[in-house]
Amino acid sequence: MLPICDLARQYQTLKSDIDAAVAGVLASGHYIMGPNVKAFEQELAAYLGAAHAIAMNSGTDALHLALRALEIGPGDEVITTAFTFAATSEAIGMVGATPVLVDIDPATFNLRADQVATVISERTRAILPVHLYGQPADMAPLLELATAHGVAVVEDCAQSIGSTWSAPGQPPRPTGTIGTIGCFSFFPTKNLGAAGDGGMCVTADPRLAERLRMLRSHGWKSKYYQEILGVNSRLDDIQAAILRVKLPHLDPWNLARRRLAARYDRLLADIPGVGVPGKLPETMPVYHQYTVRVPDRDRVAAALKEAGIETQVYYPYPLHLLPIHATLGKIEGAFPEAERACREVLSLPMFPELTDSEQDLVVAAIKVALSTPAGIH
Ligand SMILES: *Cc1c(COP(=O)(O)O)cnc(C)c1O
Repeated sequence: MLPICDLARQYQTLKSDIDAAVAGVLASGHYIMGPNVKAFEQELAAYLGAAHAIAMNSGTDALHLALRALEIGPGDEVITTAFTFAATSEAIGMVGATPVLVDIDPATFNLRADQVATVISERTRAILPVHLYGQPADMAPLLELATAHGVAVVEDCAQSIGSTWSAPGQPPRPTGTIGTIGCFSFFPTKNLGAAGDGGMCVTADPRLAERLRMLRSHGWKSKYYQEILGVNSRLDDIQAAILRVKLPHLDPWNLARRRLAARYDRLLADIPGVGVPGKLPETMPVYHQYTVRVPDRDRVAAALKEAGIETQVYYPYPLHLLPIHATLGKIEGAFPEAERACREVLSLPMFPELTDSEQDLVVAAIKVALSTPAGIH
């Protein structure tokens, strides 16, 4: 089976460095908040050009604690996309705030500023764009709205580490450094993945950075002197050591993903019915996923599986139609583009080590699946 993402293959390319890094931490006896966490925070901040980086134990906690640091809570609203991973809206719920969902841009699958403008109110405290599939959202109009209404922008960069966006006439900026706080995940399958859970918040604001440091470690600045309600959300030193080995490889890996994405674009162009991912001119995506639209998606996915190719549907349900969000009172038809995306999207194998010949097999299998009428195998 050709997997959608092959983590074991990546490990083999770095095995001696990763094994040595892990062995070093084990031998040091320093497992929590050790030197690797601090060094990784500094290295990631330098890589992104961020003033402050605060490690967390997951991307979910990075989002949750970002909202806590901004003192967002019950009665407050946070505007986000109806088409994202569960953790995005979960973080809003964890602080007791209300998610206000809006529809997506069908070309990029991302939050649309014109939709945000229709729901922004005096209860809005933050706009939470998700750079889905590693594709940066259209940030200029979102920043404009946020400034006009005096609300924060929290970027969900779980899928977008290393991608950039540029304001008109400005140099490119990494996603995560555009808004008030950028939230990253090091879940193993992400473009920069640990061998377990991990996350990070980055910000230019020293006051928010200090609050984030307190929140991730029991609400204290100095040990046992608890000042605010925090949690235990620390990154393990072993994970930080592994991430430090991998960080210098992130740019070449993202470059490989872009090359593969361009190759998919080319090869899929002459298959009728396949919609390849769009891209804004001012962005450089990192293709966490390479996601196409296909007619009769479930049948195509089944045909690929039969041909030995793994695909995934990210995501099968728009948030507003999930039981957890029933209280929002949105019914089918509320966000037609998010709903259509859930019916049509299919993510294809995409990881830096994917070979051209493997990619050719994927394309050939799609071609066969779409030229076989439904019901005939
Ligand atoms: C992975 C992911 C998260 C959560 O990250 P974890 O580290 O798994 O908690 C949040 N948002 C999006 C869009 C993600 O893909």
